[in-house]
Amino acid sequence: MLGQMQSHPLLISTLLVHAERHHGEQQIVSRRVEGDIHRYTYKDLAVRSRKVAKAVAALGVKAGQTVGTLAWNGYRHLELYYGVSGSGAVLHTLNPRLHPDQVVYIADHAEDQVLFFDMTFLPLVEAVAARLKTVKHFVAMTDRAHMPAQTKIPKLLCYEELVEAQDDKYAWPQFDENLASSLCYTSGTTGNPKGVLYSHRSTMLHTYAAALPDSLNASARDVILPVVPMFHVNAWGLPYVACMVGVKLVFPGPALDGKSLYELFENEGVTMSAGVPTVWQGLLAYTDANNLKFSTMNRTVIGGSACPPAMMEAFEQKYGVQVLHAWGMTEMSPLGTVCTLKPKHLKLSPAERMAVQSKQGRVVFGVDMKIIDGDGEELPRDGKASGELLVKGPWIVAKYFKGEGGDPLVKDEQGQGWFPTGDVSMIDTDGYMQITDRSKDVIKSGGEWIGSIDIENIAMAHPAVAMAACIAAFHPKWDERPLLVVVKKPGAEVTRDEMLKFFEGKIAKWWTPDDVVFIDAIPLGATGKMQKNKLREMFKDHKLPTA
Ligand code: AMP
Repeated sequence: MLGQMQSHPLLISTLLVHAERHHGEQQIVSRRVEGDIHRYTYKDLAVRSRKVAKAVAALGVKAGQTVGTLAWNGYRHLELYYGVSGSGAVLHTLNPRLHPDQVVYIADHAEDQVLFFDMTFLPLVEAVAARLKTVKHFVAMTDRAHMPAQTKIPKLLCYEELVEAQDDKYAWPQFDENLASSLCYTSGTTGNPKGVLYSHRSTMLHTYAAALPDSLNASARDVILPVVPMFHVNAWGLPYVACMVGVKLVFPGPALDGKSLYELFENEGVTMSAGVPTVWQGLLAYTDANNLKFSTMNRTVIGGSACPPAMMEAFEQKYGVQVLHAWGMTEMSPLGTVCTLKPKHLKLSPAERMAVQSKQGRVVFGVDMKIIDGDGEELPRDGKASGELLVKGPWIVAKYFKGEGGDPLVKDEQGQGWFPTGDVSMIDTDGYMQITDRSKDVIKSGGEWIGSIDIENIAMAHPAVAMAACIAAFHPKWDERPLLVVVKKPGAEVTRDEMLKFFEGKIAKWWTPDDVVFIDAIPLGATGKMQKNKLREMFKDHKLPTA
């Protein structure tokens, strides 16, 4: 027997309709590429998103076709999020930090029809425009006064003119919630990036789950500043959560340095933020150097790479800002786990609590996870066994765009498909998952695994260390041994021997790195993660003193 309740498709446009009606007066503040601070409301967002939907259709984009963006976090990008996806077209957010050849590959692969871009990326677009096979229109996301006097881009259009040429008489179309809404490519360190095609349904379910108290805990009383870019997995879903709950949104635009962020946090009364650890390093370096405190920020989500416990401690003890450690992937929309405490943890000592909080956390309802051994057998959730992490759920990829890479899923006995994350982890009896490594970064010493994240976390707690990466170096007897690569804080000093001594008593002796090298900077990828493949290449001939 069927239930007898109303059936409405879960569509992204419904978030905007809700926002306009129920918190239309709430503010959206953006630092613009033009340099000034722009303010408007959810009502304005809704009106302009309808105009954008009409403008995109007027450019010839049909339902199901893709529209590319190369843009920072800002209100115009948000209008494209809603205007493009809401109209039935697919928003493809490109990562402008990728190599131009990859930008060309991705835009061609996605068959982008129109490319919208912030003026910062004019040189990039000029460099690639002639090579883009499917893009018919280029749109600079600015007003007439800021358009370039001269450009190599043929018939460059002006965003504000396109939007203002339309009225806002537009009814969001109704369609199947399983249709595609947006597209994001993985950062892929080897081979070409692969596309993950989200649907309206997957995005909406993810939005409900992300807003929950034990997820991102977003409410109408919050002021949220997403530092995580809107070009990286939809800024972790925050642009959608914002419309659902009516937060005041603050966008940092292109200014992601510590000083600019701090000013925006304080001037706008930001209560919560979200970003990768490398961004917070810049912010904390600035607040430390200038003896500043946060007057309104009470929590921040940190994910994308492991958050070093030293950073969590600094946030909590020095600044009174709670860190929510979160884990996810482009393939997971991205939210998988968030590290929120259970009641029994509230009684723990600060050090014991920190040990729990530094794990990647518990699954958000909707995601199921398990760990398996090399034979595909499920491993116990005992906090000791470690194996490859598999996930399933309605906002997790089933296959990559255009079938690239074949069927990625691993079937269980019931025939259910699980997505192999490529992360090696443990799950404890309380359900907290802890990542020890990416499977390709694991160090295999004499057949035993050494997790590089534990080693990096210890190194990061040393006061002279700005950044640390642990990689495998060749060893004639053990095959691989850990090599610690360290970037020192400006003006700070530490020797190789002092660094090695720092590990004493903190880790099993055989996990201690065999050597330490100091470099000026660790190469970071397009999403702010350490590129260990590049480090391994740099140190492939490194002679360990133990060899
Ligand atoms: P991406 O798809 O670019 O967001 O990368 C996803 C990968 O980033 C995951 O598979 C993990 O290897 C890594 N990652 C994300 N969050 C965390 C975290 N909190 N701790 C450790 N690794 C993380």
